[in-house]
Amino acid sequence: MILMQGKGVSKGVVKGKLYFYERPSTTIERTEVTDIEAEKARLAEAQEKSIAQLEVLAEKCREEAGDESAILFETHAMFVEDEDYVECIMDTLDEEQCNVEYAVSVAGDQFAAMFAAMEDAYMQARAADIKDVTRRLLNNLMGIPEGGIDSDEPVILAADDLAPSETIQMDKSKILAFATQGGSGNSHTAILARTMGIPAICGLGDSLKKEYNGRLAYVDGTDGTVILDPDELILNALRTKFEEQEARKELLKSMKGKEDVTLDGKKVNVYCNIGSPDDLDAVIANDGQGIGLFRSEFLYLAANDYPSEEEQFKAYKAAAVAMNGKRVIIRTLDIGADKQVDYFNLHKEENPAMGLRAVRICLNRPEIFRTQLRALYRASAFGKIAIMFPMITSVWEVKECKRACQSVMQELTKEGIPYNPDTEIGIMIETPSSVFIADELAKLVDFFSVGTNDLTQYTLACDRQCNDLGKFYDPHHPAVLRALKMAADAAHAAGIWIGICGELGADLDLLPTFLAIGIDELSVSPSAVLPLRAELRKSIAQTCTLDLLKS
Ligand code: PEP
Ligand code: MG
Repeated sequence: MILMQGKGVSKGVVKGKLYFYERPSTTIERTEVTDIEAEKARLAEAQEKSIAQLEVLAEKCREEAGDESAILFETHAMFVEDEDYVECIMDTLDEEQCNVEYAVSVAGDQFAAMFAAMEDAYMQARAADIKDVTRRLLNNLMGIPEGGIDSDEPVILAADDLAPSETIQMDKSKILAFATQGGSGNSHTAILARTMGIPAICGLGDSLKKEYNGRLAYVDGTDGTVILDPDELILNALRTKFEEQEARKELLKSMKGKEDVTLDGKKVNVYCNIGSPDDLDAVIANDGQGIGLFRSEFLYLAANDYPSEEEQFKAYKAAAVAMNGKRVIIRTLDIGADKQVDYFNLHKEENPAMGLRAVRICLNRPEIFRTQLRALYRASAFGKIAIMFPMITSVWEVKECKRACQSVMQELTKEGIPYNPDTEIGIMIETPSSVFIADELAKLVDFFSVGTNDLTQYTLACDRQCNDLGKFYDPHHPAVLRALKMAADAAHAAGIWIGICGELGADLDLLPTFLAIGIDELSVSPSAVLPLRAELRKSIAQTCTLDLLKS
């Protein structure tokens, strides 16, 4: 028996084969070849494979979202065989006697640059499609599997570490669990795993070896263990854990449809955190009463270029429609720190967590901000959208964000496009500075939502990405809890509501403290909704104390 001990960061027990993730190379080398006909044959094969994949995607899209969405993939399929594009590849092959990967990347760069330089905004946006098609062809030439996983059956995905952009692009239907050598429970990869309800273990270190690839493993995301070849005793224990897990799921089902209220009548809205419209099914299955945090940056992380207004509008509208009148809080772009997106071409920073990130990027690059706000306001006509700004530290930032909203609303009015002019505007309280001036900020917005992941990081000066910090990164620290109380008091004095959308919201040990502070909303991963509701319905708000605010 081989026992590997890490840190459980997303609960659940599963069994499956270990699959080591191979990171695709992003640089294309130019090599000289003698057999150009063989390269052309490889191209034909990759084209055929790409078209087949795109046809499947178009069909899936047609079933799930209608003809209009399928057109994108059909256009991509046509582009794979576009006469000019293919001629450009062939010319490079003939003239340079080089490998086909290089010829395809040259054609992709040339065509993308040509579209990007066009006057018309629609044609400019096609540059992203060219890059997408080129990436697909290259992946098929290099044998890189779609969704990063070359397996017919779902697997336990093992890796050294995973960036959020890698995780988001993987085919989730093929992942039973995550097991990584590095990583931290507060990273966005761990958060994504919890959002998707996939068990995850990080910090396994060198005990997780590549030679275990393909072997049957048992993963327990609660206690952080990965086991190979369990002996009879452990196997029996694991069987019991599986049974308990199923029994607990059954028990929690009885919480569906019940109100989020304490025994003494204090109502707390239990909402969900999501990263994309794909997570909406889980929200509905777990009876989430709204979306408290839609991390819109994951749309950017999943793409190879800036998502257009139309693409964003579709995603936000899908959330608004699916939630059918329930509140959907969409946070504007929170890129930066561990969420890096290549095409933003941001400078490398010494301290990215404190660098040009989130609302700072939006205020510095108004075109990106405007595109997102237009998509958000357009979607506001289809449900109860609320807009939330991350990483706020100053009053002027909120005022500028609100000015940008005003200007977008004026544009839409002029264009005769419907939107909800009363769309709620809120901010995240996740920096100490926003806590200190919460009284002033509260007068400018409709709600606060506390990002305890970052608030803990900045209050305690502890990098949330660093697993070695262990108990130093302590979201239960009285300083963090007092900051919560200060923000809540300021919100309530100004007559607005306050929620928590950081991971702490799902911490059942702190529920009495949240009730004593008067938190109005808790936004958690979909799988945490029913356990939280069950605990809430057993609580008596009036007897809860602020004891934990003392050291
Ligand atoms: C937070 O900081 O608590 C938060 C909810 O935002 P993110 O984890 O995406 O930084
Ligand atoms: Mg944050």
